[in-house]
Amino acid sequence: MDDTDDIVAVGFGPANLALAIAVHEHNAAAAPGRRLRAAFLERQPRFGWHRGMLLADATMQISFLKDLATLRNPASRFTFLTYLHQRSRLVDFINHKTLFPTRLEFHDYLEWAAAEFTGQVAYGTTVTGVRPVVDGERVVALDVVADGPAGETVRRARNVVIGTGIEPVLPPGVTRSARVWHSSELLGNLAGPEGRAAARFAVIGAGQSSAEVTAYLHQQVPDAQVHAVFSRFGYSPADDTPFANGVFDPAAVDEFFVAPESVKEKFRYYHGNTNYSVVDIELIEDLYRRVYRERVAGRPRLHLHHLSQVARVDERDRSVVLQVRAMAEETVHELEADVVVYATGYRPMQPGAVLGEAAELCKRAGSGQFRIERDYRITTGDNVHCGIYLQGGTEHSHGLSSSLLSTSAVRAGEIVDSVAAGRKERAGVRS
Ligand code: FAD
Repeated sequence: MDDTDDIVAVGFGPANLALAIAVHEHNAAAAPGRRLRAAFLERQPRFGWHRGMLLADATMQISFLKDLATLRNPASRFTFLTYLHQRSRLVDFINHKTLFPTRLEFHDYLEWAAAEFTGQVAYGTTVTGVRPVVDGERVVALDVVADGPAGETVRRARNVVIGTGIEPVLPPGVTRSARVWHSSELLGNLAGPEGRAAARFAVIGAGQSSAEVTAYLHQQVPDAQVHAVFSRFGYSPADDTPFANGVFDPAAVDEFFVAPESVKEKFRYYHGNTNYSVVDIELIEDLYRRVYRERVAGRPRLHLHHLSQVARVDERDRSVVLQVRAMAEETVHELEADVVVYATGYRPMQPGAVLGEAAELCKRAGSGQFRIERDYRITTGDNVHCGIYLQGGTEHSHGLSSSLLSTSAVRAGEIVDSVAAGRKERAGVRS
């Protein structure tokens, strides 16, 4: 028995869940000798997609048709439509007339799909490094080292697919505490003692998460005073008009990939407002309506501090005091809150940290980032006879959809095709 997996995937978020589905469907169609064996290692104790931000009413920012499978295989049994059918909600969803289900419903869909792969996923298992397995000059496999319920484990793989997602970012000098939170931990912390007792919130940032958190706290915490602090003049709308939305099409990946660096930069500059530091227009309008209504009633609870920056944060025994610099007036005022929520975004995953020793095998571009092939495989030397693939962390090579869901079905299929082709090649070499 060969104990080497064809694929060991790190992380089991939507990206690697889409991969599990693509492998499953490949195997269903492949001859016995061509099937791929895949294992998935996930640090969370069970499947979860940004649980801390599963806010009631928050909706998806992509069409449900960009689910885990449809764009690759509309006949897949893992589509959102099949999920709805199995949950006996297909007709009700149609009557709903929306392309954008709530995140809660999409999470339920993802969990429903993930449940099919329970036997292939080691939950509660954090990958700590990847070691090359060497035979003479050749690197023939990769050992994926992880900490899990049974202590340290090692799984040998012909290919490693890293899909460790995005990582929360706080401004320099800010550290999390019982009263200083990142938006990613909102719901968990709200249920904790400081969260339950809080009546004054400051929310920092002007992107989608910040607007969602502001609206949620204002609506859900009775009588709470909510202060939104951001350096923009107003929230800026996300461009989700149809032509611009094309930047998330699978075909846009092809165009982006071959484009010279100067064009890639323009791409990002022109269309960053499809995703970064922007807010759904309906949510902007909703927040405006709330502020206006409270002004009419003369009882403001929602306060917008625009053109403002947090210059300093001091934690006291029972509160946090922010020094807020009003950029236009060049003045500083104090804002006392029970809790500060930093909705200051995320950075793409850092595959180098997960790869550890194996990072040495990977070639880098002039920018210092990994060089990635069109099939999402990191470029390695000729002596490396195994593959390291990235699902995410490829915005510099494959474009704006890298850390999003839009192309996850198609990308997973491309990776499976590449792995299967590599397997065939090796089999040819052996025979
Ligand atoms: P993730 O979902 O982050 O999954 C990565 C997984 O890897 C996690 O489960 C993590 O626990 C695991 N992991 C990390 N490190 C290790 C390790 N060392 N060992 C083992 N496991 C590890 N994008 C859209 O396209 N549409 C949306 O509507 C949308 N909504 C969003 C809403 C919120 C609140 C946020 C924060 C992001 C949203 N995004 C959205 C962007 C988001 O990046 C994608 O939805 C999606 O999470 C990407 O899937 P992923 O599998 O690449 O990453």
